[in-house]
Amino acid sequence: MLKLLRPTVRDLAGDLLYTIGLTRADRGAHRLNVVTFHRVLPPAQLREYPLAAIAVSVADFTWFVGYFAEHYTVDTFAGAARRWDAGERPARPFLAITFDDGQRDNALHAVPVLERFGVRASFFVPVQAVEDNETLWHDRLGYAAARLLRTDRAAAARALARLGAPDLADVAATVQGLVERAKGLTPAERDAFVDATERAAGGNARPAWDGMMTWEQLRAMAARGHEVGSHSMTHQLLPQLDDAGLAYEVAESRRVLEAKLGSRVETFCYPNGDADARVVQAVQDAGYARALGTRWGPNEPGANRYQLSRCDMQGATTRTRKGVLSESRLAFRLSPLQPRP
Ligand SMILES: [Zn+2]
Repeated sequence: MLKLLRPTVRDLAGDLLYTIGLTRADRGAHRLNVVTFHRVLPPAQLREYPLAAIAVSVADFTWFVGYFAEHYTVDTFAGAARRWDAGERPARPFLAITFDDGQRDNALHAVPVLERFGVRASFFVPVQAVEDNETLWHDRLGYAAARLLRTDRAAAARALARLGAPDLADVAATVQGLVERAKGLTPAERDAFVDATERAAGGNARPAWDGMMTWEQLRAMAARGHEVGSHSMTHQLLPQLDDAGLAYEVAESRRVLEAKLGSRVETFCYPNGDADARVVQAVQDAGYARALGTRWGPNEPGANRYQLSRCDMQGATTRTRKGVLSESRLAFRLSPLQPRP
């Protein structure tokens, strides 16, 4: 009974707060809002992609962008943050739409939707991974584990046992849980675990439709007013690196990205949101003007420019218990009333 009641109460409370205006966008004209997406996929690809928490459908994405375009002043992250820092306070507050990881689906499926609504966004790319069309480690692990779980459950149980794999019944939950656990390993342990899981699955299991954006795609997007920022070189968790490794990921990624794009790169986005004082200092020293983490919530005036927060967007958490995308749910999630995870 409680289980049934909770989502109902949540939906009703969200509607009420929205109706009386407490969560409406224009209540936060002094704030800088930043939202995060990773992947935007058509239905067949969405079903095949193993990490549901970082993927939305093209239809859901279109709904999100429509909402943002109606209720906010949408600009790139660098553009919105610069105007916000200069004291501009439009009636419809600033909101920046950001994408992490540089995946090809961003150019193919997200950009056309953004441009249909006449808005520009920011794309944070792992520079060396773009250069090599590499599969990022969380995707390598996700695809390999999902394939193993589909094809050979005994082999999956053996391969995943090292991380204490939970109940294998729910494939999606298992894969997501594995990636979270693998973040706790050292870089060397993680590489070895991903390699071993991939070998057990018969090699790189990324489907043919998937891959990184190309430099041509990124240059074309920048030429149309979108922002391209650095998301490091190889998407390592930066606090785990030594000073040389950190400098490579932070400073070298800016240098290479500027050379590839032929324009200035002002912004950085920490892989997995992981940044300690040493990482923040390295980003500042490398000449970036601002950096984004994954700390939840809108930014209040005076926020630390190198620790700006964002709101991660998902279809599942924006739906009512009846499965309908809800403006009041989204407004609640974007408001400071949403409890911080
Ligand atoms: Zn990332």
